[in-house]
Amino acid sequence: MALQDLTPQLRTRLSRMERAVGWFVALAMGLLAFGFVYYVYHTAQNKGWFLTKAPYYTYSDRATGLKVGDPVVILPYLECGKCIACRQGKPNCCMSLKVYGVHLDGGMAEYLSVPTDHLIKAEKLSFDEMAMVECLSIGAHAVFRAQIQPGTTAMVIGAGPIGLGAMQFAKAAGAKVIAADTVPERLQFCRDHIHVDHAIQVKGDWAKEVEAVTNKEYPLAVLDATGNLQSMNCAFNLVAHGGTLVFVGLVKENISFSDPDFHRHELTVMSSRNATRRDLEHVIESIRNGKASGKILITHRAKMDEVIARFESWLQPETGVVKAIIEM
Ligand SMILES: [Zn+2]
Repeated sequence: MALQDLTPQLRTRLSRMERAVGWFVALAMGLLAFGFVYYVYHTAQNKGWFLTKAPYYTYSDRATGLKVGDPVVILPYLECGKCIACRQGKPNCCMSLKVYGVHLDGGMAEYLSVPTDHLIKAEKLSFDEMAMVECLSIGAHAVFRAQIQPGTTAMVIGAGPIGLGAMQFAKAAGAKVIAADTVPERLQFCRDHIHVDHAIQVKGDWAKEVEAVTNKEYPLAVLDATGNLQSMNCAFNLVAHGGTLVFVGLVKENISFSDPDFHRHELTVMSSRNATRRDLEHVIESIRNGKASGKILITHRAKMDEVIARFESWLQPETGVVKAIIEM
C-alpha cells in the first residue's frame, strides 16, 4: 500500500518512527566511532607510539610523581611485600627476593618491564652518574647498617667498587676513614679521589698500622668489602671494643672467630645485603650535593660493538678496571 493512501494519523506516526530510527542509527554510529578512537588512543598511550624514545627514560605517565621523559634509576630488587623481612621494612633481604640482572634479565635486555614503584627520579644526574647509583647504594646501605657517627673512625677493607662506595658514604657520615687493600695503586686511588684519612696496605702485620693510626683503639666500625675468607676472619681482630663489624662481601665458606675475643670486645657483627629505596635516594641526593661521586668509579668505557673485544681484558686486574661503561 502507498504511503499517501494511509490515514494522516498513521502517516505522522510512521514518519516519527523513521526519524527515531534515524537518530538511533546516528547515535550508534557515533558511539562506534568514539569507541574506535578511544581504543586507538589508549593503545597508542600504552605502547608509546607517539613518544620520542630515549634509552633509560621512563615511558610511563601513571607512576605517582613521574611524568613521561623523567630520568629514572631502577631499584632492581623485587620483593614479595608479604614475608617477615618485608613486613619489617627490610625488602632488601626478602625471603623471595628477585634481582634484575641476577634472577631476572638485567641491563643488557632490549626492553625491561619494571613496576613503577621501583623507579626513582634522578634529575640533575648524568647518565654516567645514574649508572653508578645502584653500585654506590650497596656501600651506602652498609654504612647505614653500621650507624657510623661523626668523628668516629671507620675502616673499609677492600677498595673495589663496593668498598669505594662505602668509603665515600662513611666520609659523608662524618667519619675518619681508613682504606685497606692489598694493591698499592688502589690505595693511591682512595687517597686521590676519596681523600681517605689513612690508606693501609694489607700485608704482613698490618694490624699494627691500624693500631698506630687509631691511637691503639682500633676503628669503631669495620666494613669488609672483600668477599675474602682470610680477610673476613682477620677483621674480627681489627674492631674497637664495643664496635661493629659489617660484612658487605660474602664468602661460601664458614667464617670463624675466637669467642673470648668476641665477648671481650662485645662486638656487633652484621651482614649487609643489597640496598633499599632509602639508600638509592640517599645516593642520588649525595651525588647532587657533591658528597659522593659516581664518576670516579668509571675508569673504562666502550661502544656496544667493542664490548666483546674488550671484555676479556677488563677482567684482568692489571687493566685497573673499577667500573666500565658501555655506551649505547
Ligand atoms: Zn618478602
